[in-house]
Amino acid sequence: MPAQLQGEMQPTIYRFKLGGFEVATIMDSKVIRPGLTPSFGGDAHAEEVKALAAANHIGADRYEHPFTPTVVNTGKELVLIDTGCGSLSAEHEQLKGRMPPGNLVARMAQAGYKPEDVDVVVLTHGHPDHIGGLTKGGQPVFPKARYVFGATDFDFWKKGENIREARKFNRELYMKIVVPLADRATFIKPGDTVVPGITAVDAFGHSPGLLAFMIESEGKQILNWADTCNHYVVAIQRPDLQLDVDDEKEKAVATRKRILDMVATDRIPVAGFHMPFPGLGFVERAGGSYRWVPHSYQLNL
Ligand SMILES: [Zn+2]
Repeated sequence: MPAQLQGEMQPTIYRFKLGGFEVATIMDSKVIRPGLTPSFGGDAHAEEVKALAAANHIGADRYEHPFTPTVVNTGKELVLIDTGCGSLSAEHEQLKGRMPPGNLVARMAQAGYKPEDVDVVVLTHGHPDHIGGLTKGGQPVFPKARYVFGATDFDFWKKGENIREARKFNRELYMKIVVPLADRATFIKPGDTVVPGITAVDAFGHSPGLLAFMIESEGKQILNWADTCNHYVVAIQRPDLQLDVDDEKEKAVATRKRILDMVATDRIPVAGFHMPFPGLGFVERAGGSYRWVPHSYQLNL
């Protein structure tokens, strides 16, 4: 008998030491999206995006879009940054087939973390793929956690003014999932500390109050840039291209340029929610712009 075909198999958990901290990136899920264009840059830049994809050995017609939260164990507290898709696609007709089922809790278990171990859940912003794993059937998934939400993002979604058509259902989700947790939350601004060693960084644009987080221990740093860049080729090599899922498009472009400049200049490793798994890498200057350099073993040593 010939050996059975076993199907594709990919890693979904990665953990490394950062000074005295342990940091794990855990892929909640992923989707295959239909095209880099017109999402990135609209129809006006379609040919450039196709050429960019080809030059980087990827197709422009289909792309893999992972969702990868970060877990930080500071030695004192277990901090979860973003929660993935959760059971949104099962609980909401509108999302069936559009979002994958989340696997965060199962994969955290494989990494040795139980839901009740999580002390702090931090949201970078209120988009569905980041808030979906907060609750299941209306109950908090991380029963002992306190929450840390960005004040600007929380106010934007709660007030509900100037919500564009494409985000109206997102706002409903936010009201249902995030707002009821407000009494167990603290609200932070750029520069504020989540726990000692994790500091919020202004990444406003993709969402009105998007926060990145600088994670630092014993002189080692990594920036969790959340959704500052949503594709490892297009958003980094062409940070100027506007993106359909960016809520404040010009601000998102300015933020991409500022943060890319910072991590390239200071040579800071990056954890990115939508970067190819393990979602870790570096940014270097290339051809008048930037290039993603995937992590190999730098963080393992
Ligand atoms: Zn996202």
